[in-house]
Amino acid sequence: MQGSILVISGPTASGKSSLLREVLKKEENFYFSISTTSRPKRDYERDGVDYYFVSEEEFQKNIENGLFLEWAKVHGNYYGTSLTPVFKALKEGKLIIFDIDVQGHKSIRNKFKNIVTSLFVTTPNQTILRERLIKRGTDSEEMIKIRLKTALSEMTYIRDFDYLLINDDFKESLENLSSIIKTARLKSKMGSLEDFLGDWLE
Ligand code: 5GP
Repeated sequence: MQGSILVISGPTASGKSSLLREVLKKEENFYFSISTTSRPKRDYERDGVDYYFVSEEEFQKNIENGLFLEWAKVHGNYYGTSLTPVFKALKEGKLIIFDIDVQGHKSIRNKFKNIVTSLFVTTPNQTILRERLIKRGTDSEEMIKIRLKTALSEMTYIRDFDYLLINDDFKESLENLSSIIKTARLKSKMGSLEDFLGDWLE
């Protein structure tokens, strides 16, 4: 395998999706992993672009059929990464980018080890996170409470990550993310070390 992997996690409304959307406009030779979820679609989301939206039964059928590389239940909904496109992109030498939760990070790290770079994105404090969540206006009061609770527990996983990005200034965060992407690509050779060493020693 010739590619490498960048996993991005962090509390909901930390700004990770906006940062990714912006930074990827300038990147090439990457595959952004589109997850499958059983959560209801938000108005501004598009099926097959933001997620593949399926019913809970369909999701469970996919689990039984072994279609997922990893999956997790987050905020009471199912989320999963499809296996096939990930291996295809790895073979093609691409940087694969995952926007997944801390459980997904653990699983991807265990499977792909030294080709993985991980980044945790968060706000400077929890008050700002709450404000952003309310301002986004996509969740009910009940859901906001659930998401904040999940955020607090997710914060305890920061130590498992290679980098921490405190998303205070968007422009500065973009520059930092861009540097991390560049560095993450450098891990691609680690996936085919035996080949590299074989050639080098010839
Ligand atoms: P949201 O509902 O806000 O789009 O996502 C909720 C959480 O689920 C986020 O932390 C997001 O990163 C995570 N997530 C999205 N897709 C996946 C996936 O395929 N696997 C895992 N483990 N988490 C995911």
